[in-house]
Amino acid sequence: MKAGYQKEGLLIVLSGPSGVGKGTVCNALRKQMPTLTYSVSATTRLPRKGEQEGVNYFFKSVDEFKRMIDQDQLIEWAQYVGNYYGTPRHFVEETLASGRDIILEIDVQGALQVKKRFPQGIFIFLVPPTLDELRNRIVGRGTETENSLNHRMGAANNELKQVQHYDYVVINDEVERACEKIQAIITAEHCRKNRLVMST
Ligand code: 5GP
Repeated sequence: MKAGYQKEGLLIVLSGPSGVGKGTVCNALRKQMPTLTYSVSATTRLPRKGEQEGVNYFFKSVDEFKRMIDQDQLIEWAQYVGNYYGTPRHFVEETLASGRDIILEIDVQGALQVKKRFPQGIFIFLVPPTLDELRNRIVGRGTETENSLNHRMGAANNELKQVQHYDYVVINDEVERACEKIQAIITAEHCRKNRLVMST
């Protein structure tokens, strides 16, 4: 008997409250798993220091973003703390069709939309060890005003209640350890019998 993988890649969604370290974990994962493709989101938020167009985000005006919505160019989109964020459709579909795995780093509202369209996706929730630790990390990043920090903490409280929609929960106590767990999840998902094509 021969077993081969299905041609389509895995769609992996990584969510979790702002500040939990999704970006850091994703960057570490990309280094360790060079075959994993990263979906670059569109946003109307202003770039932070050091962020690059097309690398961290595609930075859009509100009009441009609304046009993308109207033209069905986004798999999902959400408003988060006053800005729009969304996942460009074409790149995700092209990557999956070519058999490569893709990871989307998006908020909970977006993840729920993706789940409706891609129920075969793998939904991973990254959580902080504690909410105090989350606040410390956002403050430590030095990118948010007091007002934005409070909004983000409010959003985090709500997001943490949505854990039941996810397949896996990973505590981000240490980046290395969180990455190892996510790699193990991806490896295991590749071995799922319904993702394998068997022939005799
Ligand atoms: P930040 O402003 O800190 O970069 O992102 C704020 C929140 O938006 C984070 O939780 C981040 O994961 C989420 N986010 C980033 N890109 C997308 C996207 O394409 N769609 C959705 N729904 N959320 C996103």
